[in-house]
Amino acid sequence: MTRVYNFSAGPACLPEWVLKKAASEMLDAHNSGMSVMEMSHRSSEFQDIIDTCKARLKRLMNIPDEYEILFLQGGASLQFTMIPLNLEKHNVDLINTGQWTKKALKVVASSAEDNFTYIPKIKQEDLSEDSDYVYICENNTIYGTKYKELPPHEGKLLVADLSSCILSERTDVSKYDLIFAGAQKNMGPAGLTVVIIKKDLIGLADEKTPSMLNYKTYADNDSMFNTPPTYAIYICGLVLEWLETQIGGLENMEKINRQKAKLLYDYIDASKLYSNPVVPEDRSYTNVPFVTGDKDLDTKFVKEAKEAGIVNIKGHRTVGGMRASIYNAMPLEGVEALIAFMKKFEEENYHA
Ligand code: PMP
Repeated sequence: MTRVYNFSAGPACLPEWVLKKAASEMLDAHNSGMSVMEMSHRSSEFQDIIDTCKARLKRLMNIPDEYEILFLQGGASLQFTMIPLNLEKHNVDLINTGQWTKKALKVVASSAEDNFTYIPKIKQEDLSEDSDYVYICENNTIYGTKYKELPPHEGKLLVADLSSCILSERTDVSKYDLIFAGAQKNMGPAGLTVVIIKKDLIGLADEKTPSMLNYKTYADNDSMFNTPPTYAIYICGLVLEWLETQIGGLENMEKINRQKAKLLYDYIDASKLYSNPVVPEDRSYTNVPFVTGDKDLDTKFVKEAKEAGIVNIKGHRTVGGMRASIYNAMPLEGVEALIAFMKKFEEENYHA
């Protein structure tokens, strides 16, 4: 068996500790004599799995009691619909940092003209007087940008997509009104979306809102109005267990992630062949795009990297080049192996 270093933006690599534990429990989980996939979601064993998962998330992220944690389906994309339906407030000030924010109604700030290479810095007075909430994508997976400070939003709700940075660092949940994240990057497998929402924002949806699109349906039924994505919740629970018991919490995880990102950016910045277009202060710690400046050479890089066991390094189809997604489960050795490969490739292909 050969494991590769998988730099996919999502679904992404999972900690080996998690995969091994899941494998060991495949035939008999929690002394049930069956796999979690085969369990009724109404069983006491599964109830324990979902309760533990929720409790771990609350503990790890220090989520205050005024917030509800919901386990949903439909991907992070369904939240683009559920949020406006549920907040019953339709005037949104959106800060456009690329693909994951662009389907908005009213953009107050955007870095589109500069290919999304920075996070627009806004002031309170830039916001619309009649807006109800400010919407951001905290870490843009495609362009590799990250808010290091949240935008001003006095008198308005703050709604944030944390799909590609949740659990990668400490987060002060109390600064947000609603956080959501697709699990498939940093929390577990695809199929699960986590929403962390202030309790007083639940129950505001218009009565015509379909029940499956209403947060209240999930909140009233402990995220089990219907069959939840049981296996995805189980794996998410193992990822959270790994974070608590093997990593020692988000402060440690943040340190490791900063170290990984610094190593890679420092190498790219010093290299003659590669460049990263994002302004240093807005660079993502989890998604690192880079290019050689020559499309054919980029293609060669992706091909030879794969042969060297470094996979899914191709940039998003809308931007090209390469992208290394270095979420929690990518070990430091993976980043070191990538840099060693990049050095070798540079030596072989850079001609001044
Ligand atoms: N938001 C961000 C920041 C993303 O990176 C993605 C997917 N890569 C999405 C939303 C959409 O997620 P999904 O495919 O789960 O709908």
